[in-house]
Amino acid sequence: MNLPKPEFFIRQSTLPNIGKHGIAKLRSSTLAIAGVGGVGSSAAYYLARSGIGTIRLIDQDIVEPSNLQRIQSATRQDLYRPKAEVLSRRLTEFDSSATFDAIVDTITSRNAEELLKGVDLVLDGLDNFRTRYVLNKFSISRQVPYLFAGAVGSQAHIALLNPPRTPCLECIMPHVIDRINDSCETLGVSPTITGLTGSIAAETAIRTLLAEPTRLATQLMTIDMAGPDVLFSQLLKRDGCPACQIDSDSMTYDLSSITLLCGEHTANILPPANTHLDLHSLSARIPAETVLQESESVLVYQRGQNMISIFQNGRILVSGVSGELEATNLGRQLWEEVIKGRDQLARASS
Ligand SMILES: [Zn+2]
Repeated sequence: MNLPKPEFFIRQSTLPNIGKHGIAKLRSSTLAIAGVGGVGSSAAYYLARSGIGTIRLIDQDIVEPSNLQRIQSATRQDLYRPKAEVLSRRLTEFDSSATFDAIVDTITSRNAEELLKGVDLVLDGLDNFRTRYVLNKFSISRQVPYLFAGAVGSQAHIALLNPPRTPCLECIMPHVIDRINDSCETLGVSPTITGLTGSIAAETAIRTLLAEPTRLATQLMTIDMAGPDVLFSQLLKRDGCPACQIDSDSMTYDLSSITLLCGEHTANILPPANTHLDLHSLSARIPAETVLQESESVLVYQRGQNMISIFQNGRILVSGVSGELEATNLGRQLWEEVIKGRDQLARASS
């Protein structure tokens, strides 16, 4: 086992519920954080400092100016770089003997099994229920604990869902549709609530990995910083829940290839099939003054009122769209540009 210097964790191993045995257990654990914005990056920050051996950081997004207010460890130098890569680099600087895998991708029903394979727990740092329901179904089918955590405005909700022993997400929050009026873009979000939510989620994850009991396995915790108030509501299974009370292997997931993200002004466009783009060649066909960021994994540029991020696997993120129709039309247009670029590259190399 690869451990940093013994004094690194001495204050933590002194805690009676941890000890050297607990540190060793955490060091051998693998955990996935889905979404590393305000909540997910805060959780990652504390989990890394608690000695978790492997953390998979999964996020589809890049760092934008409005994110710097709450993403732990991101600076202005990180603008327009993938959030997962920024966080992975910072955590590795902190502890180079642990593994912090950056996965710059959208979690869908198609890739959830692959991205989450072998994890001991999935921690939710997401801003949408569409993807949360995918995590919930993975948790049910693989019996992996799913730590639900969400923060918006000055409020947060946290619960540890571990079906069939506990209810699932669709038992307690069925049919939630992501709407602009409920998003952080409309309601705002304070860095104090995302930090607190990430901290409580990290502590709950650690106690779960150490097989310690937690109140959050039976109750949903709601925090309102305005009071501050803390409320607990009993988690109850829902009779006939279609997610956890039918054969999970027979379920199918149905996600469209274009989805609107938090605030509904950013669209995420998934490729129809796995692909591999040469971003450097694509960049050469774009006016240099419009390019905001170029790396091996992402090319970011300004196209009129839209900021376009093209990822190596063909996924495209477009900000500045007014709704689903515009996103769909622009998506088709961008796909043609990208595919046309690929054809040109193929012709050039033949
Ligand atoms: Zn359920």
